[in-house]
Amino acid sequence: NTFAEIDLGDALNLNIKRCKYVKPTPVQRYTIPISLGGRDLMACAQTGSGKTAAFCFPIISGIMKGDFSQRPRLGRTAFPLALIISPTRELSVQIHEEAKKFSYQTGVRVVVVYGGAPITQQDWRIVALHCFEKTIGLSINAMVIGLIPIPGMVLRELERGVDILVATPGRLVDLLERAKVSLEMIRYLALDEADRMLDMGFEPQIRKIVQQMGMPPPGKRQTMLFSATFPREIQRLASDFLSSYIFLTV
Ligand code: AMP
Repeated sequence: NTFAEIDLGDALNLNIKRCKYVKPTPVQRYTIPISLGGRDLMACAQTGSGKTAAFCFPIISGIMKGDFSQRPRLGRTAFPLALIISPTRELSVQIHEEAKKFSYQTGVRVVVVYGGAPITQQDWRIVALHCFEKTIGLSINAMVIGLIPIPGMVLRELERGVDILVATPGRLVDLLERAKVSLEMIRYLALDEADRMLDMGFEPQIRKIVQQMGMPPPGKRQTMLFSATFPREIQRLASDFLSSYIFLTV
C-alpha cells in the first residue's frame, strides 16, 4: 500500500518521496505491478487519477534496470527507449514536467516534442527565449536573427540524447519522416488518452508510428494504453497494438 513496497528502485523511490506521493492511487496500485511484470496493459483512467505516474514509473524503473548499451548513435537521429504519445501540447508538456521530476538525478533523459503548423508553438517559445537573450546580450542585428524561427533548437535537444520521448502524434510523424527520430529501440510505448486521440483524428498517425516500430519479438516491447472510454475503435487499437494484454478498469 505504499510505493516503498513496490520494487521501483531507490532513485525513483526517492523522487516519489520528493513529489510527496505516499500512497499509490487506485490506478497506480493495480497497473504498476502489472507493468513491472512486463505485461501489456489497457487501463481505464480519467484525468486526475494519477495515470501519468502509472505509466512513467514502470518506464523509468525499466530503463534504469535495463542494459541498453547496444543502442546505436547514428549521427543526428535520436533513438529513444520509451515513447509516450498524448493528444495535445498541454498534456504532453504536463507529462514531460512530471516525468522530469520522477527521473531527477537518475540519468534518464526526457524530451518533449509537440506540434502546430506551420511553425510549432514549441519553436516559438524557444525563439522568444532566444530573442530575449539576444536583446539583453547582443545587438539589434542578432535580435533580428533571433526572430527567425529556429526549429533546430528542438532538434538539438533530441541530438543530445533522449531516453523517454513525450510527443503529440503529428509532430512525431514529422520527425520520423525527417529521420530525426528512430523508433527502432523503443521498449516501452504508452498511449495516453487514446480515446481523445481518436476523437481528434489521430488514428492514421498513431498507426503509422506504431508501424515504424515494427512488431518486436514477444516480450521485447511493452505497451500501455490508457483511455477514459472503450468504444469499438479503442478495442480494435488494443487488439492491433497489444499482445496478451490485461484490461483493467478501476
Ligand atoms: P494525473 O492523473 O497523472 O494527471 O495526476 C493528477 C494529479 O495527482 C497530479 O497533480 C499528480 O502529481 C498527483 N498524483 C498522482 N499520483 C499521486 C499519488 N500517488 N499521491 C499524491 N498525488 C498524486
